[in-house]
This record gives sequence, C-alpha cells and structure tokens, in this order.
Amino acid sequence: MKTVFGPVSSWRFGRSIGVDPLCQNVCSFDCVYCQVGPTLNKTIQKEIFISTDRIEEDLKRVLPGASADVVTISGYGEPTLAKNLDEIIEVIRGLTDLPIAILTNSSTLPLGKMRRTLRDLDIVVAKLDAYNYSLFEEINRPVKGLHFGDILKWIKKFKSSFEGRLELQTMFIEKNKDYAGELAKVAAEIQPDKVYINTPLRHSPEGHLSEDQMYEIEKHFEGLNVSSVCNSKKYRSYKEVLNGRSVQG
Ligand code: SF4
Repeated sequence: MKTVFGPVSSWRFGRSIGVDPLCQNVCSFDCVYCQVGPTLNKTIQKEIFISTDRIEEDLKRVLPGASADVVTISGYGEPTLAKNLDEIIEVIRGLTDLPIAILTNSSTLPLGKMRRTLRDLDIVVAKLDAYNYSLFEEINRPVKGLHFGDILKWIKKFKSSFEGRLELQTMFIEKNKDYAGELAKVAAEIQPDKVYINTPLRHSPEGHLSEDQMYEIEKHFEGLNVSSVCNSKKYRSYKEVLNGRSVQG
C-alpha cells in the first residue's frame, strides 16, 4: 500500500508528490467516467482510512531530496472523506515548504468544518462537471442526500472567503460536451483562479473527446484563466498522455 507517491508529472501542477489518505475506492460520487472504476464504497461518511502516523512515515521517506513543485492530496476516491485530513495537512506543512493542493469532488464543501480544513491549503481544485441538477445526477451519480444547488452555492461562497487558489476542474465527455457554454457561465460566476478542462485520457467507460472537440469547448471559457489537457504541453503532450503514460489527476 502506497500512501505517498511520486514525484509524478501532473499536467496541472508540474512535478507533484501525491498523498492518498484513502488507499481504497471510497467516494461520495460514482462518476460515469471514473478512471479508477466503479465506486466500491459510495458514502459521505468520514472515516480514518489511513493513520496520520503512517502517512507521516511515508512522507519522511519520499520528501527528502525529492524534486517537486507541489504536494497534492488526491487518490483513489474523495480525499475529503478522510476524517484525519486536518492532521495530514498539518503533518505535510511541518515537513515541507512546498505548496499543498487537494483535488476534491466538491461534495463536502457544504460542511462548515470541511471548509475550515480546506482553508489551510494553498490550492483547492474543485470538481464541477454539471451546471444543473439533472446533469449532475447523470454524470456524477452522487450518494443520496447530496444536492447540486448546495454544492454550487458553497463553491461560490468558499471562493469569496478563501485566501488560497480556488481552481475548478471539469471533465468533458459526450454527456456534457454540448453544455460547455452553460458550464462556462457558471464558472464565470464563480471567478476561479483557474479552470482545468479535461477529458478522460486514461481507461474510462465513457471514452475521451477528440482534440478538436476540446478546442471547441475551450473557446466557451474565453476570458477565464483556462488550462486544457490538450494544451498543457509544458508538462506532457496530449498524445503522450493518451498513450497511457502515468499522469496524476
Ligand atoms: S469523484 Fe473522482 S474518484 Fe469519485 S467517482 Fe468521480 S472521478 Fe471517481
């Protein structure tokens, strides 16, 4: 079991050391395109999946001498479901001066305690694949009790109070590609520090969009600070990613 991995090349952040506080497929969503497979434990209940001590041990092995730009908390599911996330962030801060990012599906943002924990980070990358309830249900297939309106409201509120960078990420597939304009409007309301537009380049039940389709989608986001997996040549070319080389996130 690897709780800390890398550094790996991330098309978002450069060289990233990954921290996985779950090490198992547990998530509040079961996205149709999920590249780690169908969610085995669909829940919004928090739990300690990996002890903070174990993560600290692994960080102490990987961090010294590692040439990296960022530490990214992510993994095989939704990292904010880790009950000890606040402790994990504190441990990372104590061991490195690198900025700390998290990739979240945004589902726990309506929880005040979670927003307080996320405020300790430098970068929060929040998932937003839909602009309305029905598309959210169709694509993200959330656990019962999650409401799209609440999540969207709290992404907006979090952005207005967060001192770090709030970035959005949208995975485009056949099901939402025709709603890029609507998604761009919602993104403009949020005014994120960056928008990542992505398509599932690794193995996914939904398949990926073509480069041409992604360029068309990108046009809708004009005026925002957009980074598309298609033009992230700084770290990897689209074709290299497509050829299956390992890329985090
Ligand atoms: S939020 Fe991420 S890990 Fe969870 S089902 Fe969706 S793609 Fe998979």
